[in-house]
Amino acid sequence: MKQVVKIRSPRLFTGIIIPYSTAIVFLIGVACQPAVPEIDNPYAGVDWVEYGQYKANLHTHTTLSGGTAAPEDVIDLYRELGYDILALTDHDDDSVAVPTWPWQSYGRDPAVLGMVAIQGNEISDVHHIGSHFNDYGAPGVESEDIVLKEIGRRGGTALFHHPGRYDKGVEWYVDMYRRYDHLLGQEVYNRNDRYPEDRQLWDAILMEILPERSVWGFASDDMHNTEKDMGISWIVVVTSELTSELVREAIEGGCFFYVNAPKGQDGAAAPDIESITVSASSGTIHVEATGQDSIVWISQGILVHKGDRLALDDELELGKYVRAEIYGADGIVVGTQPFQIY
Ligand SMILES: [Zn+2]
Repeated sequence: MKQVVKIRSPRLFTGIIIPYSTAIVFLIGVACQPAVPEIDNPYAGVDWVEYGQYKANLHTHTTLSGGTAAPEDVIDLYRELGYDILALTDHDDDSVAVPTWPWQSYGRDPAVLGMVAIQGNEISDVHHIGSHFNDYGAPGVESEDIVLKEIGRRGGTALFHHPGRYDKGVEWYVDMYRRYDHLLGQEVYNRNDRYPEDRQLWDAILMEILPERSVWGFASDDMHNTEKDMGISWIVVVTSELTSELVREAIEGGCFFYVNAPKGQDGAAAPDIESITVSASSGTIHVEATGQDSIVWISQGILVHKGDRLALDDELELGKYVRAEIYGADGIVVGTQPFQIY
């Protein structure tokens, strides 16, 4: 994959007469400027002091689709683990055609609990798809196209669950992402990395589809068993306030991290990301974190750099994007979304 570096061309004003000497100095100055790549930052606009970081699981089952705990117990257990955002996504191919919704039907009020509840379902008769922010369910549905069109029609968002379970290939995913803007991304960690090749697939899709659009990486418990599956894989949503609208906006814009903690809640705490600073003028990305062992940078599926600061002019073999992974104790990884490079 060839690196695409767009050199900003100087904008010369026409119609203004300037002395030749001034023009020559100006042109020499422009010609001597190094080409600074432009960097798309999904975390641009975040006030790292004022904004909150909210823990979310977007892929959760209850007794309505093979889970071990009733909806109200699942809600309570996630709240006890410090989650702020939860989507109950029961399979739509069992007895449940519609989302496990609203929480009030199960005696729980998200406002009282201080949580954001997301309406959702796991569409399960085709490639499993997380359907969020809408009331769709489609037992017996025959194609992913029907599913994604309908989720879009209902104003919802979608993400592919555990792609490693299927054999679809990069082109199939790229085609889907090209056609459905509300298809936001895919799981890159499903319950402690049951499908380790899902990150390779994600990288391959990014290499193919950028700069047309980005694809976000998610981590989810896919919780069925409250004893074994809880609090292992989650996302951290960065937003100014904990409201459904702002959480949705942040997820749609990639303003979140994914986390995989193999030892779950019994293990070490995950590293905290304190801030991410992108400097357009110097072409650097700086991740400030605490509690980490190391920070690595990945481009085109390859580790290209180690350290908290990445300088794009370091003669690195960068592709169309770079993303960071922050490693902590007990095998914990916290991942950023891709920073697109032009
Ligand atoms: Zn599931």
